[in-house]
Amino acid sequence: MQKADLIIQNGLIVTVNDQMEIIENGAIAIAGNKIAAIDSTENILKTFETEKMIDATSKIVIPGLINAHSHLPMTYFRGLADDLPLMKWLQEYIWPAEARFLNPEFVYHAALHGAAEMIKGGTTCFNDMYFFSYNIAEAAAEAGLRGIVGEVVMNALPGNKQKENEIFDYVSTSRKSFKRNDLIDFTIAPHAIYTCDKEILLKSLEFARENDMLLHIHVAETEQEVIDSLRNFGKRPVEYLKEIGFLEHKTIFAHGIWINDAELAIIKNKNVSIVVCTESHMKLASGFAPMKQYFENEITVCLGTDGVSSNNNLDMFSEMDFTAKLHKAYNNDPTLLPAEKVLKMATINAARALGKEDQIGSLEAGKLADIITIKTAELANLPMYNVYSHLVYTINSNSVNDVIINGEVVMQSRELVNLNEAELQERARKYAAKIRAK
Ligand SMILES: [Zn+2]
Repeated sequence: MQKADLIIQNGLIVTVNDQMEIIENGAIAIAGNKIAAIDSTENILKTFETEKMIDATSKIVIPGLINAHSHLPMTYFRGLADDLPLMKWLQEYIWPAEARFLNPEFVYHAALHGAAEMIKGGTTCFNDMYFFSYNIAEAAAEAGLRGIVGEVVMNALPGNKQKENEIFDYVSTSRKSFKRNDLIDFTIAPHAIYTCDKEILLKSLEFARENDMLLHIHVAETEQEVIDSLRNFGKRPVEYLKEIGFLEHKTIFAHGIWINDAELAIIKNKNVSIVVCTESHMKLASGFAPMKQYFENEITVCLGTDGVSSNNNLDMFSEMDFTAKLHKAYNNDPTLLPAEKVLKMATINAARALGKEDQIGSLEAGKLADIITIKTAELANLPMYNVYSHLVYTINSNSVNDVIINGEVVMQSRELVNLNEAELQERARKYAAKIRAK
């Protein structure tokens, strides 16, 4: 018998591997932080013994969801300003609030709240962009959540009091501090072409290349961004980024809504992935991402929630549901974005976009054990005919039961293991009172 540190047994396992294999009454043996084997429960129990077992009877077992674009510490700005266009919302509400309140302590606490919310909703990995990424990393590590944290680079820095040229040293130092932490990676995140000049965009590129880091940037979120880009640079956003030589490294574009055919061709030929944030796009009326064209051109597309203040949650199940339905409606085509494809967007596609497809995004022996279980024995979840349909259109994030990240159980039967939920709630109320008073 081989030793396993944890076995999840008796579940309906949706692997999201290349063959999209589903194993009924399946089990997963976990050794250390990795998946040692996946098979029928019978076969796993013949081969492995363990002291720790999770029973997944009448539960679906899937790879943890990946939120590929977030601003985690914005949780404390949830519902602070709604029903406004992007620039008015940013300039009159969000940026002033950030300028007033952001400091390492605020960011750490708000990120801890967000990390807990993500885990409760079945997210096991997030790709973030915000200020004080060191403190976001601290919060994620404490929660046991896998985080790829991007420090925002901007010419005008409303929230971050540091000077732009100090940012790169800050990221280097932060990265060194977390070098031995399996859960944390850093990226460099120039905010957008309307907040970063050419010089700082290219500095970011150079830094990302030297340090083998991902680049993460907002691109083509609004029509106004395209109009301004044409006026200021004589080019559309993606054409401009190509022209200045920015697109020569692995890059994630958040949004990618206002993209024309010429820009699609550029994206296709560069190492660029797209994160669509459907609920944020709908709420800010930013537009409709060219989903059909992205898939026709085999561009990697994944999903993100964006910041809480434009969503207003970190729920990847509702993000999958909205994305599938919105693009069917918009394209007048109910066959577009079938559930199976949408689940891939929230798992393996995101892993690919992050350059981690050999580590996360599917349940396969040898990959990191980032796994969630989902209850189906509830009225609203019964009966079940097709598990993919269930995952995208039926399951609500409250049905997530257990969350395992890097081989560690971080939520068991909806109880957070590393964090005290009552304490987080109390702290959120205290911060809200402070923000409201101003
Ligand atoms: Zn964003």
